[in-house]
Amino acid sequence: MKFADRRFQIDSSGIRKVFDLAATLENPCNLSIGQPDYDVPDAVKDAAIDAIRSGKNRYTLTAGTVPLREKVSDLYKQRGHDGGGVIVVAGTSGGLLLSLLVLLNPGDEIMFTDPYFVMYKHLAKFIGAVPRYINTYPDFRLRREELEKAWTPKCKMIIVNSPNNPTGIVYSREELEMVGKFAEEKDLIVLSDEIYEHLTYDGEFESPAKYTDPERTIIVSGLSKSAGMTGWRLGWTYGPKDLIQAMSEVQQYSFVCAPSPAQEAALVGIDLDMTETRRQYRGRRDVIYEGLSGLGYEVSKPGGAFYIFPKSPTGNGKEFVKEAIKNNLLVVPGNVFSEQNTHFRISFAVTEEQLKRGIGILGGMLAK
Ligand code: PMP
Repeated sequence: MKFADRRFQIDSSGIRKVFDLAATLENPCNLSIGQPDYDVPDAVKDAAIDAIRSGKNRYTLTAGTVPLREKVSDLYKQRGHDGGGVIVVAGTSGGLLLSLLVLLNPGDEIMFTDPYFVMYKHLAKFIGAVPRYINTYPDFRLRREELEKAWTPKCKMIIVNSPNNPTGIVYSREELEMVGKFAEEKDLIVLSDEIYEHLTYDGEFESPAKYTDPERTIIVSGLSKSAGMTGWRLGWTYGPKDLIQAMSEVQQYSFVCAPSPAQEAALVGIDLDMTETRRQYRGRRDVIYEGLSGLGYEVSKPGGAFYIFPKSPTGNGKEFVKEAIKNNLLVVPGNVFSEQNTHFRISFAVTEEQLKRGIGILGGMLAK
């Protein structure tokens, strides 16, 4: 096939190799998975089934059903936002793609932290934008001087992801205020990826968007993680109305709308009480963090999401992951999420038993 140049801007080989290897292992200890280990709650499933049975299977309005848009809008009103519009999209990923498509020209630059969620780099490159990496090593915190270093006059946008994939770090109020001020000074659009908003372990979720001017702020989120609906493709974007209008026009000629039954189910999913899940995942966070620090791994304590990002004891993430796989442990090399190859990502969205098994293997590898 004769591909367009942009096709070659996407490279998923790093993560694919891990999945290919995973397929060859027998009963591996799999700590590589980026999705919750719980199923969609029954109330949400029932809502989807009822929707399908009662004929809610047709296209919805391009921007999503009115009740769901109102519900999402109310959610942000309760958090102190006002005057923005809502578009319902195919997962948080849908919001990321559509917003980058309508906001960035080829050659525009976009800043985000390194390590980063993989999609940011590849989507940006796919549309011809240039990623600018904000170094957050070794503790994955945001520092003004690193923002300055990453910035150029061509930067149009900054993505903030808190709680963060792959580090699990939750940014403090001071860090978020600093980003808000920086964005104001440099006239940057702020995209806040809040997909892990319900999974915070040491306090209430603070939206990065609380500290930025609403006129320059976009929030993307969805129910993949909280309701475990990863396969249902349901997310939304909240932001200035002209942006939402532009995204709707692209959605009209591409995805058309988010899946109708998933939109009905989202009316229930959005109200789920996450207290018990949070408690359980907090326990797992403690097990993995204490386990790894006890073994002497260099690691920062995650405040949210379900990832931890330790440094490889050899300083080489890829080599370490190859060794781990020989020991039947699956984790993801840090270079999939970073311009440097020094760390690896563990997902703790698994049972405590699996986590302890993983810690045992990681301990054994250190002893060798
Ligand atoms: N943003 C981040 C930071 C994520 O980790 C993920 C899922 N791995 C997404 C966005 C995409 O989520 P969705 O399923 O809603 O498209």
